[in-house]
Amino acid sequence: MSTIPPKTLNPRSKTANHSASVAKKAASKKNSPPKDKAPEDYRPTIWENMTPSQKTEVESLAQEYRQFLTEAKTERTTLAKVLSWAKDAGLTDLAKSGPAPGGGYLVHHGKLLGLAIPGAKNDEGFNLIVTHGDAPRLDLKPRCLYESGGLGFFKSNLYGGLKKFQWLARPLAMWGFCVLKDGREVTFRYGEDENDPVLTITDLLPHLDSRVQRDKKLVDAFPAERLNALLASRPFGQPNDKNRLKKTVTDFLLSRWGLTEDDLISSEIELVPAGPAKEVGLDASLIGGYGQDDRLSTFVAAKAILEVKKPAKPLLLIVFDREEIGSYGSTGAETNFITRLAAAALTKTAKGTDWLTMTETLAKSQAISADVEAAFDPTFKEVHDELNAARLGYGPCLTRYTGGAGKYGASEARAEYMAKIRRVFDEAQIAWQSSLLGKQEYGGGGTVALSLAYHGVSVVDCGAPLLSMHSPFEIASKADLWMAKKALKAFLSNA
Ligand SMILES: [Zn+2]
Repeated sequence: MSTIPPKTLNPRSKTANHSASVAKKAASKKNSPPKDKAPEDYRPTIWENMTPSQKTEVESLAQEYRQFLTEAKTERTTLAKVLSWAKDAGLTDLAKSGPAPGGGYLVHHGKLLGLAIPGAKNDEGFNLIVTHGDAPRLDLKPRCLYESGGLGFFKSNLYGGLKKFQWLARPLAMWGFCVLKDGREVTFRYGEDENDPVLTITDLLPHLDSRVQRDKKLVDAFPAERLNALLASRPFGQPNDKNRLKKTVTDFLLSRWGLTEDDLISSEIELVPAGPAKEVGLDASLIGGYGQDDRLSTFVAAKAILEVKKPAKPLLLIVFDREEIGSYGSTGAETNFITRLAAAALTKTAKGTDWLTMTETLAKSQAISADVEAAFDPTFKEVHDELNAARLGYGPCLTRYTGGAGKYGASEARAEYMAKIRRVFDEAQIAWQSSLLGKQEYGGGGTVALSLAYHGVSVVDCGAPLLSMHSPFEIASKADLWMAKKALKAFLSNA
């Protein structure tokens, strides 16, 4: 949740008409800066410098990414995808005994994943990337099934920072991971298949909403306790039977997945926007879908680290969970997972280690907290400091600090480290931009960078810009996706 600035806007351009005429001139003279601007002001988008073979690369990566987004809508399914790629690349389980010369993986509680790739030299620290696999959504409450007014419902609980009204009156799917008392696990998706019915959360018709919604402040107009998913309207049993709609649902759960109502207590069932990720725009230059914060970074980071051959330094990738709720919990960044992974990596893929060596190695390490940034949205331009606002199509963003007003709660990268990353990106011809999150005192955000900083690791936030962040349909640029992968690969190989 951080914002990004490019140096695209000419400070001389005071009016909107001015920049519009500049763009038209630029389009007509492909890649040539408009005559009346100093050359260094004009910065082409990534698209303008792309070769035909690069365009093919961009489209195939985007296609693969859309499939990933469509098939991994929860933190568990995201982890399972990345883990399958790691196994295909020959990485072995670091929790198992024996060396792992080809690299290894470490999984914690099924929702936190670490990958380790050995390097030629181990005394200069790791190059590591951290992302997160969780995204804002609605979780079913442990006791969630009820009926009212002749309808059956599931009660939900917010997870993370989302805009509640965006989740109303739209198709929702149910992605579940349930564990029965005997330990059997039941995993299901409902509402994604073409022929699957979906769920939805109803909203009030405008004819009658004035007192309940329209006259209220947005924060009060959509109480979280109203976000309940509609499940059933056809009663089973006899007219004088009680809870006939609940029975409809419990019969379905039992017959379909062998689940009882009590089994929902030991379940993680997430309501997410139903349907596949899509291409967006008449030019199909954009990708729209749920959970791009931060599955975009997880996708490109996993692809990048598994493509780097014989790195100079040992590499780590951590896909954390719980980032959207402050990284608390056994699978979040506020744990000792990084030290466990570092120790396992140094022990299994290198010459062994002790506590001092491991903590010193971490303190010498360099990291990119790969998280998406807020892109400049001209529809809401007043919330952005245009000199520091990100633009779609100009590449991944370096965000020196996030946090709130006065840099409260920020992990800020020091000048030496920023200079190093700039050099690494420029030498690899990465198109990148610098970033800050919106105007001061307009809000704030954070990433897992803070948790890494605890170990003395040099860390900076870097990621692709998004429009409509945290909505059920976030927007990213195919060009930024492609360049973000190249940027992370350059960092892992050359930093
Ligand atoms: Zn994020």
